[in-house]
Amino acid sequence: MSGLFAWLVLRNPLSGGTHPSNVTEAASKSRVTSAEQCVFCRAYSDNRNAFNIVWEDADFVAFRDRRPSSLHHFQLIPKNHINSVKSLTKEDVDMVRRMEKIGNDVLDQYHVPSTHRRMGFHTPPFNSVHHLHLHVQALPYVSLARRLKYPVAGGFGIFEKGFSWFAEVGQVIRILERGSTVGTLPS
Ligand SMILES: [Zn+2]
Ligand SMILES: [Zn+2]
Repeated sequence: MSGLFAWLVLRNPLSGGTHPSNVTEAASKSRVTSAEQCVFCRAYSDNRNAFNIVWEDADFVAFRDRRPSSLHHFQLIPKNHINSVKSLTKEDVDMVRRMEKIGNDVLDQYHVPSTHRRMGFHTPPFNSVHHLHLHVQALPYVSLARRLKYPVAGGFGIFEKGFSWFAEVGQVIRILERGSTVGTLPS
């Protein structure tokens, strides 16, 4: 493992910068987070007052990240508990497209130019909360360290996405449409 990679592997999932820090290591390692103990399920139910909700409908809710990595930084989540981007299949393409549309609607509210928008998902095990969340961001990032948490790796050959712990929403849609699944390795 190279030094930089080791640093990122160790730092990214554990830094807690993006997500509530009360997720225990045991819980974050569990692939199957039950809805009862999921901090994001509680964001639209019994703990919603702790979240700064900016957008909501029957199926999705968006709230401000507690420790924003960029000028504006929101989390958009489905109210139906889904573990991660890796759980998604071709049947979820319409849902992801809807999330992309909502993310853009939220950024429209803040007059964010299209060149300053970034939206995507962390790939397991780099997702610190195991409830699918789309990072909806208005650039620039607040620091280089934060920028490194959301690297977009372009595809090559048959791959839509290169090696990266972050998958841009358009990459996710194209990978799922093709019938593949999204991971950290090229997909
Ligand atoms: Zn959940
Ligand atoms: Zn994330």
